[in-house]
Amino acid sequence: MIWDDDKWKRLLGDLVQIESPSGFMEGIEKVDQRIVNELSAVGLQHRFHASDKGPILEIFREVEGKRGALVLGHADTVWPLGTLEQRPFRDEGNHLYGPGVLDMKAGLVLGVAAIKDLAAKTPFCWLITPDEEIGSEVSLRIIQKRAREASVTLVLEPGGEDGALKIGRSGVGNYRMIISGRESHAGLDPEQGASAIRELAQQILWLHSLENRVLGTTINVGVVKGGIRPNVIAGSAEALIDIRVRTKKERNRLEQLLSAPPKFDSRVRIEYHGSFSRPPMDHNSRSEDWFGLAKQIWERISGKDLSGVNVGGASDGNFTAKLSPTLDGLGAVGEGAHAPHEHVRWEFMKWRYALLKALMEQAEDDEKDEDLRANWT
Ligand SMILES: [Zn+2]
Repeated sequence: MIWDDDKWKRLLGDLVQIESPSGFMEGIEKVDQRIVNELSAVGLQHRFHASDKGPILEIFREVEGKRGALVLGHADTVWPLGTLEQRPFRDEGNHLYGPGVLDMKAGLVLGVAAIKDLAAKTPFCWLITPDEEIGSEVSLRIIQKRAREASVTLVLEPGGEDGALKIGRSGVGNYRMIISGRESHAGLDPEQGASAIRELAQQILWLHSLENRVLGTTINVGVVKGGIRPNVIAGSAEALIDIRVRTKKERNRLEQLLSAPPKFDSRVRIEYHGSFSRPPMDHNSRSEDWFGLAKQIWERISGKDLSGVNVGGASDGNFTAKLSPTLDGLGAVGEGAHAPHEHVRWEFMKWRYALLKALMEQAEDDEKDEDLRANWT
């Protein structure tokens, strides 16, 4: 293993100190350039795909007749310009802090380190996208195209507790409920009114009755508004809803129910507008094979157990799971992604690097899966 703590901490520091919120092209370009420079000595190919959210960087090695791994990373962070000034990059030995350090500047460091030491002639494709944190609209097509060509997709999102991989991710649905009732004077003419707010309250209870925590289906009504005055029966009301599902079946069930909701007051009009922006990342047997392999490698290099968890958050792994086996959460280990206490636990980095490199090398010989797995036991 060729792992150099000082060298890779330096690269991490450089990357964190380039602020790159989604949509800030200049920062994203600088992150990409720093990575290209770091890999320039290795003799890899790279190309930039232009987009209005910044470039999509593709670093790759083609080997004729062979498929390799697709590695997914993103250069953007959720932190606005100026966050660095309030929370500068800080190295406390085993804990490293700074905006985007865990999600996913440290994941990018792992990608660079693994690719630098990758066995020559191992084919792979690494995409570094500019818009993961805002839904991957511009990167979606190339992600899907490359996932179809790959033997496995490895996602550099942060790992779970003690490095757990994310083997299931929820699909996310965003809906708006719009209710039109009939206004009237609450005291003089209560019979004439049809309250949109009363209907809204009943709709919310109905929505919550559709949850299924055992299957991982959650529904949250996060915003409500409606009505104009206390003495007027509300003529309109609306709500914003967040739905998370783990399976396509659950997604279909909810889509169907929301297309024809019950009416608690027959005089009102109810509409649900919205859709699922990312499909759920399901367990499937090919992904499970790869998880088994990752577990064996991890135990061998770190002496620790590796678990696989289901999580509510979505990533680009949601897009690829149907197209190629997908392992997500292979990036750095730490705490506080999208939170001010975001940090990386450095002790895990050398093992994460070794795991990523080993998986990329295994990906080349996908056809001989069985034999290779035998070697790891
Ligand atoms: Zn991320």
